[in-house]
Amino acid sequence: MIRIGITGCAGRMGRMLMAETAGSEGVTLAGGVVRAGNSAEGQDLGVLAGIEPCGVTATTDIAALFDTVDVVIDFTTPGATVDHAGHAADRGKALVIGTTGLDPAQEQALRRAAETAPIVFAANMSLGVNLLLGLTRKVAAALDADFDIEIVETHHRHKVDAPSGTALALGKAAAAGRGVALDAVAQRARDGHTGARRRGDIGFAVLRGGDVVGDHSVVFAGTGERIELTHRAGDRRIYSRGAVRAAVWAAGRAPGLYGMSDVLGL
Ligand code: NAD
Repeated sequence: MIRIGITGCAGRMGRMLMAETAGSEGVTLAGGVVRAGNSAEGQDLGVLAGIEPCGVTATTDIAALFDTVDVVIDFTTPGATVDHAGHAADRGKALVIGTTGLDPAQEQALRRAAETAPIVFAANMSLGVNLLLGLTRKVAAALDADFDIEIVETHHRHKVDAPSGTALALGKAAAAGRGVALDAVAQRARDGHTGARRRGDIGFAVLRGGDVVGDHSVVFAGTGERIELTHRAGDRRIYSRGAVRAAVWAAGRAPGLYGMSDVLGL
């Protein structure tokens, strides 16, 4: 049995991750942490997840969590994630990170932590989106800059970062297909008199509203024709299922920074 610990247990993904872990074979829900001061502290993790009580309660002791489990799954906030990666690095414990919105310095901190711990870091844990990443890279490599690349994403009204981590990952995949760095060509917002579109740019457009789980499209707009690759998430379970699969894959693995393409063998 692989012992899994969950951080951010009171969050939307935290609750799903606990239910997914409790319902999966070969793993056990061994601990969970909430942010200090959260009213969920002391509550049974099963009850928090909306399933049967499991006899394990939510604590605020992140060090104890890392000491008692084989692998931690973390979908929280960038600052918390960097802190948690430090705990993983100190102990060489596996960590699966789904948090998005990390800045370059925070991503660098994960790379440092991955020198001594196996870390899976992916902006999107779903099988479909990871296939979309591969397809985007391939299509971008096959077409030249006569085809303008635009990435459109829609998420629920509670999402706090934009463009989504998945949209940025799709941008990176498209840029890699073209053999350029995303930073050199990304056009992350347009407003007012922007002038004509610059050849080779990769544009982003963001919609927020309602309870949309996550839609992403990559548009390759040429003259007289357009290719659109689209993924629509209908259920957050696609992320929690992928995360538990990543946790099983990562537990006990050699240190390194891995992605979902490693986990899924794509
Ligand atoms: P949420 O706001 O519902 O949950 C985040 C939780 O983290 C909150 O309960 C908060 O209290 C908790 N938290 C913050 N700091 C903490 C700390 N120091 N210790 C413990 N808990 C702490 O958000 P959400 O919708 O669950 O999303 C969480 C993150 O996961 C976001 O960055 C989101 O973009 C990302 N996400 C990733 C994927 C993926 O597949 N990789 C899928 C969905 C969401």
